[in-house]
Amino acid sequence: MDSPSSVTRTHCPYCALQCGMELHADGGADAGLRAAGWEAFQVNKGALCQKGATSTELLNPAVRLTSPLLRRSRDAELEPVGWEEALDFAAGRLTAIAAGHGRDAVGVFGGGGLTHEKAYSLGKFARVVLRTPHIDYNGRFCMSAAAAASQRAFGVDRGLPFPLADVAHTDVILLVGSNLADTMPPALRYFTTQRENGGRLIVVDPRRTRTAEQADLHLQPVPGTDAALAAGLLHVLIAEHLIDDAFIAARTSGFDEARAEAQRWWPERVEAVCGVPAGDVRAAARMFAGAGTGMVLTARGTEQQADGADAVNAWINLTLAAGKAGRPYCGYGAITGQGNGQGGREHGQKADQLPGYRKITDPAAREHVAGVWGVSPDTLPGPGRPAVELLTSCGIDIRALLVAGSNPVVSAPDADFVTSRLRALDFLAVCDVVLSETAALADVVFPVTQWAEETGTVTNLEGRVLLRRQAVTPPEGVRSDLDVMGALAERLGWPGFLTSPEKVFAELAEASAGGVADYSGLSHERLDATSEGAGLHWPCPTSDHPGTPRMFLDAFGTPDGLARFVPVACEPAAEEPCADYPYRLTTGRVLAQYQSGAQTRRVRSLNAAEPGPFVQLHPDLAAALDVVEGEPVRVTSRRGTAVAAARISDLIRPDTVFMPFHWAGAGRANAVTRRTTDPVSGMPAFKTAAVRVEAAK
Ligand code: SF4
Repeated sequence: MDSPSSVTRTHCPYCALQCGMELHADGGADAGLRAAGWEAFQVNKGALCQKGATSTELLNPAVRLTSPLLRRSRDAELEPVGWEEALDFAAGRLTAIAAGHGRDAVGVFGGGGLTHEKAYSLGKFARVVLRTPHIDYNGRFCMSAAAAASQRAFGVDRGLPFPLADVAHTDVILLVGSNLADTMPPALRYFTTQRENGGRLIVVDPRRTRTAEQADLHLQPVPGTDAALAAGLLHVLIAEHLIDDAFIAARTSGFDEARAEAQRWWPERVEAVCGVPAGDVRAAARMFAGAGTGMVLTARGTEQQADGADAVNAWINLTLAAGKAGRPYCGYGAITGQGNGQGGREHGQKADQLPGYRKITDPAAREHVAGVWGVSPDTLPGPGRPAVELLTSCGIDIRALLVAGSNPVVSAPDADFVTSRLRALDFLAVCDVVLSETAALADVVFPVTQWAEETGTVTNLEGRVLLRRQAVTPPEGVRSDLDVMGALAERLGWPGFLTSPEKVFAELAEASAGGVADYSGLSHERLDATSEGAGLHWPCPTSDHPGTPRMFLDAFGTPDGLARFVPVACEPAAEEPCADYPYRLTTGRVLAQYQSGAQTRRVRSLNAAEPGPFVQLHPDLAAALDVVEGEPVRVTSRRGTAVAAARISDLIRPDTVFMPFHWAGAGRANAVTRRTTDPVSGMPAFKTAAVRVEAAK
């Protein structure tokens, strides 16, 4: 049995479930630690997926950076240097580029895996120290469409406005574009319990995933037609008088326009457009509307579209029309992806936003935050460019970029093009734990602390703010991103930039006071004291406020308290196949890898489980193209080409191929994807590329 001092209770470094884990200092192979599930933590109840269970390998100095790296000239290799030299060099280049091209020529690109303290500080660093408007982050690729849709409908974006445990008590769940069985397996228990309790599950996914296998009804639409499918379900509700008139009258606004659009989407038309049998459309609508309680949960499958926000609003319109919101065990929720994907979008890392989920264009918000930062509101820049626009303007008017916790060379859409833009920069600095593909292009690389080497806070997919506790001392040569920002700020004429996570969080809490995401009642100390590390759900506006596990029970977050039906056009927004590119590519994740793979590709057992990219295609398509299982397949779009081994499966539509996006090199799926973005949210259309598929012989 471990002594209390030999166990640190903390949270996983990866996805937004933020499973509780115990790090046992009992001589494990990696930094002397072994990860085990934290039984008493109420979200995962001791379960970890294989990524979390092997996460201590990331602490092994052999897989990570332990010295700053510097490229002295364009043609030179990166070489290890001391911290002072690296910081002086970076500060000198940032100063020179701002002087020569203007402050707006410097950009910052963050990540949804960064703690609140880092994400908040990055936003402050950009606006106060660099005084550039151009900061955005990779969460734009992940959560932006659902966030924009929730704000339009509810006035608030909190991924799940209810605890995940509520799922188990809901009669019918419509799960759209999520493969939880692979992306966050411990969450699946709530869905299993829901069905054991007599509930039913409808899954919408072009692939018959391990999650879809568990569904009572699986709808397998053509990628990019989600909005039309949602409108088709709403059509059935209206035609069969299944809408909840009393709820619509009492708690919503704008139904008439949503009704008008839905009336254009009768089930047979939906079948023709979406490829989902009309009978299944009717069955799903009846199942959902006929239940006492119901939820619609979306994820990247429906969100990463050129009409991502509209598609999500189409699902929310369905939820509202059925009266399945604003009461217990009902509602719409987005299943956040990255570890701090929720918190990372609340406190100033987005191009248009200040801490507390405030709008940077709101004079009152600017005045409040500027007051906390000790600057004049007039000095704060306005909105910057969303992620794709920011990355693709690199080397044009953006001449320098500071990247923290992101690997856009692998994760950005149209990745060859984005890589060429990063190469065209005058100066690229990267803070990372490992030498990612993006760090390998940099002029300066700062090796920074990660997860168990630092204390910080994150917000999980339920809006639950959690304290991640430090378990080990960082390797020699490694500093926190906060220290990097503090040291650069000092060199750039801003001494005293906060570097203590506890103090940064206290300032964040003050900056968030009165905002939508109000953390002002939270502190490291208070989070540390919560029973079994349960954390507290925001909003939490005072130090004695109990937090808000369930939102919208009395009113929605709009000025009039009503949820809004958002009128959306539901025409498919995909890149349509043609003679040259006759098939559709959709991309996604696998169980044993995470995001761009920068971390998980360095973990032995994960690589053994999923060693490389693949192309999943239907046996009929494989036969037509003379493709053989395991042999290389070339997937080509108007942007580029990826080559990976064939994985033949009848679990996917014959007109669609699937590639996971975790790898660099020849099998980099994002070489093929589109950088077209949703005009509402800036979300790239990752899921819908027209492609040519052929055996790569
Ligand atoms: Fe970590 Fe997510 Fe796996 Fe939980 S489900 S162990 S948070 S990667």
